[in-house]
Amino acid sequence: MGSDHTHRRWSNLRKVLERCGPFCRPDFEPSSENLQMLLERCKVLVVGAGGLGCELLKNLALMGFRHIHVIDMDTIELSNLNRQFLFRHKDIGSYKAEIAAKFINARVPGCNVIAHNCEIQAKDTAFYQQFHMIICGLDSIVARRWLNGMLMSLLVYENGTLEQSSVIPLIDGGTEGFKGNARVILPGMNPCIECTLDLYPPQVTYPLCTIANTPRLPEHCVEYVKVIQWPKENPFDCAIDGDDPQHINWIYEKSNERATQFGIQGLTYRLVQGIIKNIIPAVASTNAVIAAICATEAFKLATSCSASLNNYMVLNNLDGVYTYTYEAEKKQNCLACSQIPREIEIKDSSYKLQDLIELLCERPDLQMKSPGLTAIINGKSKTLYIKTVSSIEQKTRENLSKTLIELGLKDDTEINIADVTTPNTVTLRLRFSHSDSNSRQ
Ligand SMILES: [Zn+2]
Repeated sequence: MGSDHTHRRWSNLRKVLERCGPFCRPDFEPSSENLQMLLERCKVLVVGAGGLGCELLKNLALMGFRHIHVIDMDTIELSNLNRQFLFRHKDIGSYKAEIAAKFINARVPGCNVIAHNCEIQAKDTAFYQQFHMIICGLDSIVARRWLNGMLMSLLVYENGTLEQSSVIPLIDGGTEGFKGNARVILPGMNPCIECTLDLYPPQVTYPLCTIANTPRLPEHCVEYVKVIQWPKENPFDCAIDGDDPQHINWIYEKSNERATQFGIQGLTYRLVQGIIKNIIPAVASTNAVIAAICATEAFKLATSCSASLNNYMVLNNLDGVYTYTYEAEKKQNCLACSQIPREIEIKDSSYKLQDLIELLCERPDLQMKSPGLTAIINGKSKTLYIKTVSSIEQKTRENLSKTLIELGLKDDTEINIADVTTPNTVTLRLRFSHSDSNSRQ
């Protein structure tokens, strides 16, 4: 690789990094050192090696990032190949991260991608701490929230002031069909995933009574067959396998019968397949746009050559091309990124532990999955309920039907909560509303 080639290879980047411009950040100093820093020192983590991940890895590698780690626990499936272009037919069954890393390393001289074939929860703080930034192309909200919590746990506060050097930026891209979004999160400084949690719609579920008694939509019919008829008739002596056409066919026929019975239109084989497999259609061009934005933001953050996206960009290609960028706001009492303990108001003195757990799962700003609760009562830690460890679950199950007062919880009792949505323990302070303090939040 001659120096002439190297020089020409980065000539376009040099134009951006060695000259000043109106959009440069104030701390930007045009210099050839900017490129050297990018090539030699900048270390980034790409989370996810799927549709967005393949695009991200390709973009970053071609933009001069050389020290790239990629983490993904999934293996390659046939249905990935139409858009996850780092994979070939022979790679089916292999780890996505590993194959993607190999492909980039072979194709882009000088680039060193290191693969981690595991889930993000398998890595500790020391692992995440080594990166200058993290670029995220995930389809799971729980994984995003966990990662967000991890980056928050790395923040260092000195006398209440955030140490800038402990901030690891998170660039988050997401797509669903023809829609997508990209955002730049500077943990502790601007809004985080939890600050804007209520933007994510809760998973669509249908009330059982509607499915059973008053179906109105084709979806209701499919859900009925899935939840009620399949377990009852057990046609293939096994659980539903969304990849088995016989299974889908059976559900399709039964759903159709039910739809006809209730005069419901619009039931198709594809719809059945979509509901059973929980398919979110993936569109290659949406991934390409969102990944390009994320990679550009990574480049801007790494070099200071331009101000960052501030801070949330949405894309909608459903009908023409629409994009909009707005400044999402930090939530003052965010569970993840504020230093303020959150209070939870209990209005009813007959409130049971079960009710509290349901509240934690249903509230749009909390959306927990299977919270485990402990409390400090009279100076001692008491386990209220933990579902994930079966021996503790058995011992604490009886607490579910007790009221909070029976369990010894009072005003100002702090409840520590562990959940899959964060690596950290979340603390909530109980506030029983009395007639004289109804206005309290
Ligand atoms: Zn936050």
